[in-house]
Amino acid sequence: METYDPQAIEAKWQQVWADEGAFAVPNPGDGEEQRPDKAYVLEMLPYPSGDLHMGHVLNYTLGDVITHYRRRNGYSVLRPMGYDSFGLPAENAAIKQGAPPRPTTEQSISNIRRQMQRLGWAIDWNRELSTHQPEYYRWTQWLFLKLLEAGLAYRKQAAVKWCPNDQTVLANEQVVDGHCERCGAEVESKKLEQWFFKTTVYADRLLDEIDDVEYWPDRVIAIQRNWIGRSEGAEIIFRIEELDIDVPVFTTRPDTLFGATFFVFAPEHDLVPELVRGTEHEQEVLDYVRRTAAGTTLERMDPDKEKTGVFTGRDATNPATGEPIPIWVSDYVLTEYGTGAIMAVPAHDERDFAFAQRFGLPITQVVVPADEEPNGGDGAFVAHSESERLINSEQFSGLAAPEGARAIVEWLESRHAARFAIAFRLRDWGFSRQRYWGCPIPIVYCDDCGIVPVPEEDLPVLLPEIEDFIPRGRPPLATNEEWVRVPCPRCGAAARREVETMDTFVDSSWYFLRYCDPHNDQAPFERRLVDYWMPVNQYIGGAEHATMHLLYARFFVKVLNDLGLLGFREPFMRLFNQGSVNYQGARMSKSRGNVVPPDQAIARHGADALRLYILFMGPVDQDKEWQDTGIEGVVRFLNRLWRLVHEAAAADDGAAAGDGPLVRKAHETIARVSDDIGRRFVFNTPISAVMELVNELARDASSGARFAAETAVSLIQPYAPHVAEELWAVLGHERLWEQPWPVADESMLARETFELVIQVNGRVRDRIEASVDESEEQLVERALASPRVQAHVDGKKVQQTIVVPGRLVNLVV
Ligand SMILES: [Zn+2]
Ligand SMILES: [Zn+2]
Repeated sequence: METYDPQAIEAKWQQVWADEGAFAVPNPGDGEEQRPDKAYVLEMLPYPSGDLHMGHVLNYTLGDVITHYRRRNGYSVLRPMGYDSFGLPAENAAIKQGAPPRPTTEQSISNIRRQMQRLGWAIDWNRELSTHQPEYYRWTQWLFLKLLEAGLAYRKQAAVKWCPNDQTVLANEQVVDGHCERCGAEVESKKLEQWFFKTTVYADRLLDEIDDVEYWPDRVIAIQRNWIGRSEGAEIIFRIEELDIDVPVFTTRPDTLFGATFFVFAPEHDLVPELVRGTEHEQEVLDYVRRTAAGTTLERMDPDKEKTGVFTGRDATNPATGEPIPIWVSDYVLTEYGTGAIMAVPAHDERDFAFAQRFGLPITQVVVPADEEPNGGDGAFVAHSESERLINSEQFSGLAAPEGARAIVEWLESRHAARFAIAFRLRDWGFSRQRYWGCPIPIVYCDDCGIVPVPEEDLPVLLPEIEDFIPRGRPPLATNEEWVRVPCPRCGAAARREVETMDTFVDSSWYFLRYCDPHNDQAPFERRLVDYWMPVNQYIGGAEHATMHLLYARFFVKVLNDLGLLGFREPFMRLFNQGSVNYQGARMSKSRGNVVPPDQAIARHGADALRLYILFMGPVDQDKEWQDTGIEGVVRFLNRLWRLVHEAAAADDGAAAGDGPLVRKAHETIARVSDDIGRRFVFNTPISAVMELVNELARDASSGARFAAETAVSLIQPYAPHVAEELWAVLGHERLWEQPWPVADESMLARETFELVIQVNGRVRDRIEASVDESEEQLVERALASPRVQAHVDGKKVQQTIVVPGRLVNLVV
């Protein structure tokens, strides 16, 4: 028997798979045999900036196990790979290295591809794509033109979020707690002309149709809903008589209208300059606007920050009271919410209250808790409560708050001063960037014709090479005059190209469609092919994409569906967020210096050991701690498996395997592993199950040893495909990657296993396959190990455990 040499075995089988194109999958109609059922397994594509890290290894190994499992269960599995190689992350990596983005990015790609191949992932390499290649971005540009044609892309001046560090505009979704999602810098506000996609047109459908997915984590659905932010209320018109202007505001509390004692504009609001033009307040107000524009959203939203503001000298009419109320400008009002102007109700809104106190503005209480008398007066703050009634609201006084709201809006509706309205928090997606390394926007500006789209036959508009790509606040492409000057496609006069580029997220909003038809040079994809493969059956990626990428991809798919380019409305049927890989107590990161490089782990222990360990560490959706001793344990297991399989191969129990304990154990293991991977989507416990089987094999190899060995090798194959393939050959077989997944013989299980129902506080949280041989302690232990159960126990102490043998475990926390 040779010793287990992972480096040699892995190189050998990777060569076999590459030579055979083992994991390439034909498209329907390609003439090759098509399996009856399809599965599209997709992991979010990596930004090519440097090396793969352990988070990638976890993500893609998980996808790999699912791919092998589905393939061996008879599915035609599409499992592609690509690189999100255009845009900020790749460009920032290049700037850090002091080199131009193209060679840096391409070097990263070839390095990452080498690492992926070294890990032996079952990828269809024929479908590989990089978003920075003209063959790809030609179609990104084409799709932009389709959206433009459909009236879903437009350019306008707007107050936008600006990252002073990255020197570019950010989408609202890229601002996290007032900071740049990429670099962490505090975000500023700036007025700029920008390209937008009309995501708001799809707000209601983005909200409603999320119900059509099969399974997304509750948390992600909640984040999407919250980001889209539907609220019901009313739009109320406040009239500025002197200027003959009506200003609509959205409020969820029209019942408090009688308490609106002043009016506030955000500093960026377009009307502000007009309000004060030529008045004694002009200078002071415009100074204030300039000063506060630099403030970050975070500062502005800080409830403890002292409120600032200026009076405009103007009044608006409260349509309920008919009284004039003063108009102020203050930075505590943000343009991203509602209309950028508010009716201030200081008695019942904390920020309005703080502002009114600071500037001595009137405070009128208009609602009280239903069972209380008004507490004597104005000037106090009264928080909203569960059940309220109106006071100080003329004919509406005494009504319960919801009725009051309805009655007030209906009353004003007849005077065209209010209407019921629904507001969304979602804003249009600002997608143009003042950066070099991105997809050029196929637009030409002509003095006579205005904004002119580049004709489809002239695509792609190639990104030119330029000397200085460092971001300095204006688009670097503007420096390349030769490229910028172009005849107008419509009239032929001298015109100029758009010099801004598209945000990375545009590239990644449709890449999953291109995988279905990656070499098409007539169209981004053929509808027949995307309709065959899509929607993605299982999508896997980081929870940090809960708003941006998932929202944009869903928007694109809905638009393309409306344009008749594809036949479905949601791109991702099942979504899974993997946890992070920690080391020395914190998430692995270069800046912290706590990184275990995958290359190093592979050189020391082999790819199979790394693949096994990364999934063995713990439940895949939770954060896990890397232990050097942990991977060594996995290596010992592989060595043991190696030795025992060689011994079992020499034994011949052939048809005489019978139904001895080892054979029963093997069937039980098949049932457990299949149930864990296929139904429960749990990936660490199958490894323990195979380890148990191997332990049994070591203890008693008298009868059924060969069957147990074959079973162990077959079940471990998705995790450790190289050593499994080698051992499969030792057992006298070939091409394990194409073998049907083993099926447990039910008659061997009948007395052995049952479905254990696991409850937390009396509610069913999981069901697992359990053995009748397991003790009550073991059942409780396994119940506690279930990730679904852990999510509900949530770190709390288990007070009591109730075990009904053969049926259920109830944990009381
Ligand atoms: Zn930044
Ligand atoms: Zn023209």
